[in-house]
Amino acid sequence: MKLTSLGSGSKGNSLLVSAKDGFTETTVMFDCGFGIREMQRRLERAGRFPADLSALIVTHEHGDHAGGVLAFARRYRIPVWMSYGTFQSLGKDFSGMDVNFCRDGDSFVVGGLQISAFTISHDAREPLQFHMTDGAMKFGMLTDTGQVTPHIANALSGCDALMVECNYDDRMLEKSAYPFYLKKRISSVYGHLSNSCAGEFLAQVDHSRLKKVIGAHLSQNNNLPELAREAIEEVVDAGRTEIVVAGQDDGFEWTEIA
Ligand SMILES: [Zn+2]
Ligand SMILES: [Zn+2]
Repeated sequence: MKLTSLGSGSKGNSLLVSAKDGFTETTVMFDCGFGIREMQRRLERAGRFPADLSALIVTHEHGDHAGGVLAFARRYRIPVWMSYGTFQSLGKDFSGMDVNFCRDGDSFVVGGLQISAFTISHDAREPLQFHMTDGAMKFGMLTDTGQVTPHIANALSGCDALMVECNYDDRMLEKSAYPFYLKKRISSVYGHLSNSCAGEFLAQVDHSRLKKVIGAHLSQNNNLPELAREAIEEVVDAGRTEIVVAGQDDGFEWTEIA
C-alpha cells in the first residue's frame, strides 16, 4: 500500500491511497478540497489521472475537504462515498451519479482495499475518518477531530502507518490574532487536534506495528512543521518509525507502507 497527499491544511485537502491486487492497482481519493483545475494539476504532479481513481471518499462537508467533490466526481464519473449526513449538509445535486452512503462501523471494498469508517468529534453533521487494509498493512487517518475518543483509539489501534492531525501549537494559537470565538472553536472538543493532543494520541494508541507517522492538517498561522515533528518525535522512536509532515502546497510525496 502506498499513499500521497495532494495538499493538507485548511485551504484544501486530498489524499491518495493505492494498493496492488495482483496486476491491477486500485487508487482511491480521500477528500477533494481544491477546484477542478488545481486538482488536475496536483494529480498530474502525483503521476495520476482522474481515470485512475476508483472512488472519491469524502470525510465531511467542510470546504477544505468537499469543496471540489461534486464538480470533479461529476466530470470524471467517479463513484463517491460519504455519510448521509455529509450528503445532506452539502445539499448539492448529485443526481445521475454513483453515490454510496457509509456510516460509523461500516466497511466496504474498493478493488484491493477494504475501507472502514469511524465517527469522530468535529463540528460537522456526520463526519467520518477511515482506516483501511490491503490484507497486509493497516493505514489509519485522523484529522478534523477535537478530541480522541476511546472509539477512535480503538479503531486506529495496531496501524502500520497513521496520518494524524497536528493542527496547532497551543502557545501559538493562544498568542495568535485570531478572534476569541475562533480560538475557542479550534481548540474545542469539536474542533481540531493540537500537536500535544496528537502526541498523547500516539502514546495512548497501540503503536507496536507503527512504521510511519504523518503529521497533517497543520495550521499555516498557528503551527510550524518543526513543532509538529517534535511533538511526534517525543512519543515515537524516530529510529524505527519514519516521520513525515504534510504541507498545504506540496502535501507529501508517494510513500510506501511495507
Ligand atoms: Zn479540515
Ligand atoms: Zn473540518
